Amino acid sequence: MTEPRRRTLMTVHAHPDDETIGTGGAMARAVADGHRVILVTGTRGELGEIVVPEMDTPDNHRRLGEIRAGELERAMGVLGVTEWENLGYRDSGMMGTPGNHDPRSFWQAPIDEAAGRLTWLVRRYRPDVITTYNAFGGYGHPDHIRTHDVGVRAFERAGDPVWYPEQLATEHGGSGGSIEEGGLAPWAPSKLYEQAIPASVRGLMAERLKSLGKTSFWEPPDDATPEQVAEFEAFAAKMLVPDDTITTWLDVSGDPLEKKWAAIHEHVTQISDQSPFMLLGYEGWRESWGREAYILRDSRVGTTLPETDLFAGLD
Ligand SMILES: [Zn+2]
Repeated sequence: MTEPRRRTLMTVHAHPDDETIGTGGAMARAVADGHRVILVTGTRGELGEIVVPEMDTPDNHRRLGEIRAGELERAMGVLGVTEWENLGYRDSGMMGTPGNHDPRSFWQAPIDEAAGRLTWLVRRYRPDVITTYNAFGGYGHPDHIRTHDVGVRAFERAGDPVWYPEQLATEHGGSGGSIEEGGLAPWAPSKLYEQAIPASVRGLMAERLKSLGKTSFWEPPDDATPEQVAEFEAFAAKMLVPDDTITTWLDVSGDPLEKKWAAIHEHVTQISDQSPFMLLGYEGWRESWGREAYILRDSRVGTTLPETDLFAGLD
């Protein structure tokens, strides 16, 4: 018998910083547990805002992808992750902005071609577990919606040799563009998760921010009209999921959360100390984000729900 394979977690994200905010705890915990962790990011976040006023210059916007690549690298250093990839698309910008129409953007990419790029990475790294976003992309950003689209397709297709046969090893090895000895083979990952924000977090954050004299971004402004409140609530309902629909609660309190908190501070151009998210402080994070929540969307192995481990059922 050969040594058992190291388990591999692949987290699929849209922009730099999404990985730390969304799955930083799971990534740090997987590293600590001896698993391999691969981060895939769809874009380089070129069109985001720069939240630090003295850094918000035309020069820095021009080279924002580069700056964010450096921030991502430092955040991965904190989380202990040593392998990451990028799908090579351009940031599409928020929904309704000109970047949506850029032919280089993730939003404009033909979906099968984009899913093929992720499929290639799935075949190359052979993850047991993949995480992505829900169909709303968490909050409706085009690149986050695409992250969902390619995540579910790569999960379905990577194990099927009918899809993207040009990626697979040819019978006469050594040619055909394969990058590893023997070339790539189909690979069917075992589990696919969508990250989720449990509805209870809204109340926890609102309470903590209120105690600090701040308004939560989860609450509509006091002077909102009934229509604006209804619109706000409809949006919140799409972002948040009822706690009882969470299939997998991952305890990341302690060391993983400390690393997540430190890693988020490496995303300097994106994280303002004045954002309600950061004003919560580490104590607030422990309260709201001490557990990361996931929904098991698809599984090729048997498991018992609710779970407390993304790798449950794989042994
Ligand atoms: Zn994002």
